[in-house]
Amino acid sequence: MTTEKLNLRTFDGGVVDIDLSLLETIPHKGRLRPGDPGYDDATLIWNGLIDKEPALVLRPENSDEVAFAVNLAREHRLLLSIKGGGHNISGLALVDGGMTLDMSLMRDIRVDPDQRLVHVGAGCLLGDVDRATQEHGLATTLGFVSETGVAGLTLGGGFGYLSRQFGFTVDDLVEVEIVTADGQIRPANREVEPDLFWAIRGGGGNYGVVTGFTYRLHDIGPDIVAGLIAWPATDHAEDVLAIYQEMTTTVPRELTLVCTTRLAPPAPFIPEVWHGKPIVAIVACHTGDPRQAEEDLAPLKAFGKPVADLIMPKTYVGQQSMLDATQPKGANYYWKTEFLPEVNDDFVAAFLANAEGIESPMSQMMMFHIAGAVNEHAEDDGAVGNRDAAFVAGAAGAWPGTDPEGEAYQHWVRSSWERIRPFSTGGNYINFQTTDDDVSRIESSYRGNYERLRRVKADYDPDNVFRVNRNLEPA
Ligand SMILES: Cc1cc2nc3c(=O)[nH]c(=O)nc-3n(C[C@H](O)[C@H](O)[C@H](O)COP(=O)(O)OP(=O)(O)OC[C@H]3O[C@@H](n4cnc5c(N)ncnc54)[C@H](O)[C@@H]3O)c2cc1C
Repeated sequence: MTTEKLNLRTFDGGVVDIDLSLLETIPHKGRLRPGDPGYDDATLIWNGLIDKEPALVLRPENSDEVAFAVNLAREHRLLLSIKGGGHNISGLALVDGGMTLDMSLMRDIRVDPDQRLVHVGAGCLLGDVDRATQEHGLATTLGFVSETGVAGLTLGGGFGYLSRQFGFTVDDLVEVEIVTADGQIRPANREVEPDLFWAIRGGGGNYGVVTGFTYRLHDIGPDIVAGLIAWPATDHAEDVLAIYQEMTTTVPRELTLVCTTRLAPPAPFIPEVWHGKPIVAIVACHTGDPRQAEEDLAPLKAFGKPVADLIMPKTYVGQQSMLDATQPKGANYYWKTEFLPEVNDDFVAAFLANAEGIESPMSQMMMFHIAGAVNEHAEDDGAVGNRDAAFVAGAAGAWPGTDPEGEAYQHWVRSSWERIRPFSTGGNYINFQTTDDDVSRIESSYRGNYERLRRVKADYDPDNVFRVNRNLEPA
């Protein structure tokens, strides 16, 4: 009788035959190979530019199954990737010919309104968490698109509409459970495994497979004032940018403003005559008192003749998913971004020059205001660093997979990036890096925290089992 074998790539550059009977710890429905029903879903990721085919996908349902998979990977030196929400632009969730751990079946959420904490399974998406916590009028700091994975976003630092008030996502992170390269299931927090907890607060998937996250919660919503307002760019871009510059130095932390320029999408809320024409838009999210919101937002509401004004009372959950449709899964994406200490006149000129060059119907120049609580922690409070950042800004290239102009759109991203790089703090957000960002870009994401991250990596993952990520080589 022959036993069925599976060829898997190793991180030494070889291939091993794994006896399929070895996988029996994982229930049958949690083991997928190309061609199996469910395989395509389990390997679907956001960026259509990425084309990878794992030889095996394991879908663990609990921490013991994760530990089993990590032991298997370490013992056989398998190339291992971890998939949270599959939103990483570099496609790091998947590994060609290797083994992918798809965490999407670990999606439990438990809100503890008395302790003001939420316990989140590693397969959750942002929308899962927002919906559960908002039932209690509570929220933690998460990003702007509800289909993003909680795990990847948190482990890279995380920012969103609440960052000005509460900091990076990791500033709300109280504890994790993590399976490290030795197969141990460990809690980590500021007191227990403090170095590990420090490293995972920004260091990504380098230190193990996180199985659960516990976050601090804050009173937010459920009703807030928020939305998007857009004007024709040709007549209004300079004035809108001037208002944006002014407002981001004066408004309270309850108000976050995101500025973007693009060709108007064929959305029902934009009159048809504007579709495909350049617009400048501000996305606003005010989580404070509604009367205060009216006052704080007045300069935007009063300016010019918008092509659309959707800033209004709405739910926080609604705001958190408002941009989902602008980021469809499976389109092609290529970004370059920087952290900025400020938005000055020269930066605005560069931003607008880049905007004029936009040709793809989906690309945009964008900047997020994050100044506030993120700046109040020590630079080494968590590996995330970049505590001197007031904005995240960059060129976000996007186009349908069928568009033959892909290379030209990527060229626009790169040349736009060259124009804005001189205004950077010197740091860039690890979670926005693309496949062609090299080690020097990783280093500049962490700056003063980089060498310590590599030392902690050597302590917890000396063989670099967790290498399919923005990798930190063990020191
Ligand atoms: C449309 C869009 C909007 C975004 N908006 C924001 C935003 O507002 N704020 C923000 O901060 N970021 C934002 N991001 C960036 C986002 O944080 C990253 O793309 C992040 O990697 C997504 O996490 P994921 O779990 O979906 O990714 P995946 O691709 O599934 O995973 C990415 C990497 O995370 C690690 N990882 C995932 N799960 C685990 C785990 N359980 N244990 C250990 N490591 C793990 C692995 O190294 C994996 O390779 C956005 C991205 C997109 C595409």
